[in-house]
Amino acid sequence: MSLQIRKVPIARPSLDEAEAEAARRAILSGWITQGPEVAAFEAEFAAYVGAPHACAVSNCTTALHLALHCLGVKPGDEVITVSHSYIATANAILHCGATPVFVDIDPASYNLDPSLLEAAITPRTRAILPVHQVGLPCDLPAILEIANRHQLPVVEDAACAIGSALHVGEQWQKIGRPHGLVACFSFHPRKVLTTGDGGMLTTADPELDRRFRLLRQHAMSIPDTVRHDANQVLFESYPEVGYNYRMTDIQAAVGRVQLSKLTAMLERRTRLANRYQAALAHLPGLQPPTAGRHQQPNHQSFPVWVTPEFPLGRDALMQALLERGVSTRRGIMNAHQEPAYAKCGHGPLPHSEAARDQVVLLPLFDGLDLTDQDHVIACLMEIAAGAGGTS
Ligand SMILES: *Cc1c(COP(=O)(O)O)cnc(C)c1O
Repeated sequence: MSLQIRKVPIARPSLDEAEAEAARRAILSGWITQGPEVAAFEAEFAAYVGAPHACAVSNCTTALHLALHCLGVKPGDEVITVSHSYIATANAILHCGATPVFVDIDPASYNLDPSLLEAAITPRTRAILPVHQVGLPCDLPAILEIANRHQLPVVEDAACAIGSALHVGEQWQKIGRPHGLVACFSFHPRKVLTTGDGGMLTTADPELDRRFRLLRQHAMSIPDTVRHDANQVLFESYPEVGYNYRMTDIQAAVGRVQLSKLTAMLERRTRLANRYQAALAHLPGLQPPTAGRHQQPNHQSFPVWVTPEFPLGRDALMQALLERGVSTRRGIMNAHQEPAYAKCGHGPLPHSEAARDQVVLLPLFDGLDLTDQDHVIACLMEIAAGAGGTS
């Protein structure tokens, strides 16, 4: 049997006839944007994560921008975050005209190292924006303790973290309750739950939720849904400058089906992650992330740190896997190493830079079948054994 004919993609969204049928229902319903499907998706999402309020928007970048904007982040302010994230995290800060202040990561968790947080706070700091990277919950209790002491709001970039949980007090709590002031989610196809594109803001603060709802729809004083149902002629006004960050009902209808499948999807992902963990225990030099006892990841991705113990470097390993039909991606990027951030100052970020250059993401998605995963593992073992070529 030839191994190299099998092609394993890095990820594939998990959508079927149920989502297609839901989209069809929304399309034929006569109301296709920010209507009843969006309202139902918001209610179901809030119930799932345990949040008092959930507000749907067009994607997570707009969610992050809206959250920071509604907290008053403006030009001249600083927002503390990580460089080691998808670039949208830092971009949302720049969209407010503010300056991102990058803190290095803890290499064990790929997340903001709380021991470096306090030194980054200045009189200009306006908010803290930690990330739950690839669905691994960051150390929120430690971050919140420092933030509360300095009376700084925490916005969680939970783009990747639907279904992830933290052990707080005596119980597991879903990311998004939220633990900070606001949590922002993404429904891009690379995330665990997808609506094509889409985002959600959760908060326990009713006034913030009201602001999100106002500004996502051009700051329109009387929503179209209210005017539609009124038996009196009503005229809306626009008391401030808002945005168009609406989610469509077609997306929300798909999201509701995805949410109903989430528990089963998370179980399959956990099973796949556990199989990788077991296999990697026999492969020195390939280090999976070490989730703490208080963190439950959703296994959006399976990052592996390629250490000097491994016979090949990270890039050579990716190439050797590609030659065997296995797609991988490099680890998470760093904003500060991109040309768009060339003018943005920062302190030393050695762990962020090492993670970008030494981490590889292995295929892990809901529909990954076990024989394909076994093929990935067999390829890793073959490469580790120094087989070299592809035959
Ligand atoms: C995907 C992602 C985003 C951006 O989400 P979009 O919905 O594509 O705007 C932001 N932050 C992180 C950490 C992400 O992984």
